[in-house]
Formats: sequence, C-alpha cells, structure tokens
Amino acid sequence: MPKPMAVVDPARCNAAFCQGGVCLAAQACPNRILRQDSPYEVPYQVAMCRGCAKCAVTCPLKAIRMV
Ligand code: SF4
Ligand code: SF4
Repeated sequence: MPKPMAVVDPARCNAAFCQGGVCLAAQACPNRILRQDSPYEVPYQVAMCRGCAKCAVTCPLKAIRMV
C-alpha cells in the first residue's frame, strides 16, 4: 500500500488565519517539503511528501488532508 500524502485544499486554506500569513503547517514540515512562495499564499510541496502528517495536524483550519 502506498504511503499517505498530504493534500492541501485551497478552498479551506486561509493563510490570513496564520500569523503574518505565514503557513504554520509549512513551518511544521520536516526538511521544508511544504512551502509558500510568499506570505498569504497557499502552500504546496516542493519535493516528495514523506507522509508524516505533521502539517495536517498543525493546520488550524484543517486544510490539509492525508490521502
Ligand atoms: S496552516 Fe493551514 S490555513 Fe494556514 S496557510 Fe497553512 S494550510 Fe493555510
Ligand atoms: S505530511 Fe509531513 S512531509 Fe508531507 S508535507 Fe506534511 S509535514 Fe511535510
């Protein structure tokens, strides 16, 4: 069975909810796989997600699901 991967739901993400528009989930990601181009942007993965779910647990709006 493949490992789960984090998927950001842009409809649920509201970066204004995170202080300074800085994604809390991206900050929680080991090795900075989840990143924002700039504050208030929706985060995305820049490398293969390792499925640790730290981002999903951290996002205050539950905008990240593990699938
Ligand atoms: S922590 Fe959640 S709500 Fe905040 S920017 Fe990241 S994905 Fe969006
Ligand atoms: S599941 Fe883990 S490795 Fe994947 S984006 Fe989230 S924090 Fe990063």
